[in-house]
Amino acid sequence: MALTALDIFKNLPKTNCKECGVPTCLAFAMQLAGKKVELDKCPHVTQEAKNALESASTPPIKLITIGDGEKKIELGNETVLFRHEETFYHEPGIAVLVSDSLDKADLVEKVKTINSKSYERVGFTLYVNFVALSNDSGDSAAFADAAETAQNNSQLPIILMTDDPASMKAAAEKIKEKKPLLYGITADNIDSMAVVAAEMNLPAVISAPLDDLPELSQKAQDLGAGDLILEPVAGGMSKKLEDLTRLRRAQLKKNLRVVGFPFLVNAVDKDDPYMEINRAACYVAKYASIVIISGMEDWQLLSLLTVRQNIYTDPQKPVQVKPGVWTVGDPGPDSPVLVTTNFSLTYYTVEGEVSSSRVPSYILVIDTEGTSVLTAWAAEKFTVEMIADILNQDGGIKEKVSRRRVIIPGLVAVMTAKLKDESGWDVIVGPREAMGIPKFLKSLAV
Ligand code: SF4
Repeated sequence: MALTALDIFKNLPKTNCKECGVPTCLAFAMQLAGKKVELDKCPHVTQEAKNALESASTPPIKLITIGDGEKKIELGNETVLFRHEETFYHEPGIAVLVSDSLDKADLVEKVKTINSKSYERVGFTLYVNFVALSNDSGDSAAFADAAETAQNNSQLPIILMTDDPASMKAAAEKIKEKKPLLYGITADNIDSMAVVAAEMNLPAVISAPLDDLPELSQKAQDLGAGDLILEPVAGGMSKKLEDLTRLRRAQLKKNLRVVGFPFLVNAVDKDDPYMEINRAACYVAKYASIVIISGMEDWQLLSLLTVRQNIYTDPQKPVQVKPGVWTVGDPGPDSPVLVTTNFSLTYYTVEGEVSSSRVPSYILVIDTEGTSVLTAWAAEKFTVEMIADILNQDGGIKEKVSRRRVIIPGLVAVMTAKLKDESGWDVIVGPREAMGIPKFLKSLAV
């Protein structure tokens, strides 16, 4: 938890000497809490107080980086149990399982397929984050070769999955520059597996029942493995969700540093692809930072990535597109002009339907602070005056079309007459739902 000004004040000298540049120790504490000054601006703070403040200001969940380059991923550092309290910061990485038993050509093809899995949604690119390589062969050399092959064919970070320390060491040696995640510490192998992670300075997963995780985490740290991911392993989905929730509460409410790391869940269920994605979505919601799945059909990945996107956007900042004139296709002077709001979900729904109509069009996007049509209209953020102003702006849409005719959403048909008077444009009422747009635009063109 972030320190309050009062927590900080208790550790300051309270002499109000002003040498830090502010009039009182309390004022300095308030600035420090707001991250506006550094602690070393106070020359009189004791070493003991420094230690207390620094350790108390360490994030309750360590930020762990896996991979390198553009596709590296940062996990952890969350500060709240529920997204509406603030926001969740580091979205979970989705990993797709591949086996080192595949022959080389099949492995390359599968890795390339994983690389290619990305989707555009409401202006963002959603993609898979990891290749999770499992040592199914049980062969150390085969695992190391497969790790190298995966690395050579993907920018994505790699998760090495084996509980055999010798195999882990052989594979990690080949790709350690790319900072893979070592998924393999258990109670049985911790003495040697944690040392592999420590020697190579790589992040590692500890898998154990909930009650054993604190002790194993401490032991791994004592052995030098400081970047950890925790996996509570006992039971089915409800037990896992309960364990993840208990761990997250221990991190945030009790400040239990020994478990202050992100979590991983292996959700692989090759027999039931529907339940695999359902379960994975639940783990994304509470509170996994990495979820491993086996499926890579578009319906599986897109639905899971959409859940992740929805949970990990800031609930206080609606996702928005830039206001202005957008084009679909290659519109000309006779093309239709539609008007909508800058809420991403609204805009991209409209844009998708206009696009599927194959009628080149202009879409005029009004700045409604990221609210949808009816909400914006009710809050007076989508008004006749605003639309009229933009329709008649110099250098704007009026100079791109020969016919002054605008299509407004059916939900705000009530503004038709006033908008016509205010703007001088013909106003046509479009469909109430975006799905009606293709038929509507085609009928307009006839
Ligand atoms: S320099 Fe330190 S002791 Fe002096 S006012 Fe600032 S915080 Fe207080």
